[in-house]
Amino acid sequence: MGLNTKKIDHIGIAVKSIDDKLRLYRDILGLKISNVEELKDRGLKVCFLNIGDSKLEFLEPISDNSEVSKFLEKRGEGVHHIAFYVDDIEKVVKNCEKSGFKVVSGIERGAEGKRVAFLHPKSTGGVLIELVEDNEAKE
Ligand code: ZN
Repeated sequence: MGLNTKKIDHIGIAVKSIDDKLRLYRDILGLKISNVEELKDRGLKVCFLNIGDSKLEFLEPISDNSEVSKFLEKRGEGVHHIAFYVDDIEKVVKNCEKSGFKVVSGIERGAEGKRVAFLHPKSTGGVLIELVEDNEAKE
């Protein structure tokens, strides 16, 4: 089947306040911010911090009905998803669907305009998995 994912692209962490978390992750641990962005359609502000070849992604809700506000209400702050870097997201999504793994809402545009898809935690051992395709690396 070949290696379809080469690294963990990022780990998503649900937080109430990104600024508050930067006091540890940026100011003490010394991680550098690579991107801050508002994803209005998902009701989220996201902040990426580089750590080696991977990143941390802080997810802060900017609307009450974002998926992350529900997560925070139910479970509090913490790890929200793990994102795998894939070369060909369409192929991986197709294989998941064929094999009975639940793809949450198909391929969509995520942060930095990258194509992303999510696998439902019920079919992955309790982990929300994000697939990320780096379209820039492809061109
Ligand atoms: Zn993510």
